[in-house]
Amino acid sequence: MRAVLLQGKMDAQLVEVPEPELVAGSVIVEIDRSGIGGSDVEAFVSGDLPAPAWFGHEWVGRIVEVGAGLPDRFVGEPVIGAVPAPCGECRPCQAGLGSHCIVVLEMIVGADPLASAHGAFAERIRVDARRVQRLPEGIDINDAALSEPAAVAIHAIERSGVGIGDLVVVVGAGTIGLLVAELARIAGAARVAAIDPEAARRELVCDLGADAAFAPGDEISGWLERTGHGLGADIVFDCSGSEGALAAAITQVRRGGSVIAVGVPSRTRDSLTSKLVEREVTIRASLGYSIADVRRVLTLMAEDRLHVSRIYQDDLIGLSEVPAVIGHMAQHGRAAGKLLVAP
Ligand SMILES: [Zn+2]
Repeated sequence: MRAVLLQGKMDAQLVEVPEPELVAGSVIVEIDRSGIGGSDVEAFVSGDLPAPAWFGHEWVGRIVEVGAGLPDRFVGEPVIGAVPAPCGECRPCQAGLGSHCIVVLEMIVGADPLASAHGAFAERIRVDARRVQRLPEGIDINDAALSEPAAVAIHAIERSGVGIGDLVVVVGAGTIGLLVAELARIAGAARVAAIDPEAARRELVCDLGADAAFAPGDEISGWLERTGHGLGADIVFDCSGSEGALAAAITQVRRGGSVIAVGVPSRTRDSLTSKLVEREVTIRASLGYSIADVRRVLTLMAEDRLHVSRIYQDDLIGLSEVPAVIGHMAQHGRAAGKLLVAP
């Protein structure tokens, strides 16, 4: 059969390859459509994958053969490439954290031997049967090819908690950014703006329902000022993963708002953004305290539930000793526990 393989940096070729070999628990799918994703272009540009490399991981097709242990009725079913359900056995699964299942994660990143995460730029692909999702009737086949990036976008929307009346900014109007902008509306966002350097993408995101689109830079600040009542966006999605985008997002979001990191180009795998996204970590900032916090503290002390007496030293310091004590602390490091002054 024919397949497009990566032969090296900036080098992809259509070649004749052996048919995929059927193994137990897997199916052979005839590819009807495969999408060219940002990560495919990244792999082409970087040449990071060991050549010759299979690529293409967004696809829709029909099952043409089933491996041992699978029913024949699967043959002919229209399917898309997806991730399996959580395994139920790994450590995160055992701890009730199925959404962080190690087996699913390894399939997503292609580390599992049966993963076939890539290889959809070919006539047929072998894939673990747990990784295919049956396509319901009534979905256009070209639309179905976008279900993988749409699932990525929906996951980001879900993680963001975007809701009715929110002001949303989407940085990067590639496929994921366009889908996030469209889905933010479905989730109830009142205003959506996008930021992208390409004029054609800015036009497209507005066609899809965004209120405004801007080139990177300060262009958006006036719109944010007017639309966000001088506060900023409730939620900013960084779908670009580009250098500095996350820092810019923090200046666009309102105080107490949320920034959702979605995009990670492979070239910046060591960046803070990559580490955040790959581990799907939630970072929340905390600034000072509120009057409600003070009242909670006083209640806990009054009820003898918060114990602070070990955190200060019993020996009180007179006013006259303060200069010497502070001088000593500056030179020799701070004492264990707080020093209290009794003027
Ligand atoms: Zn698991």
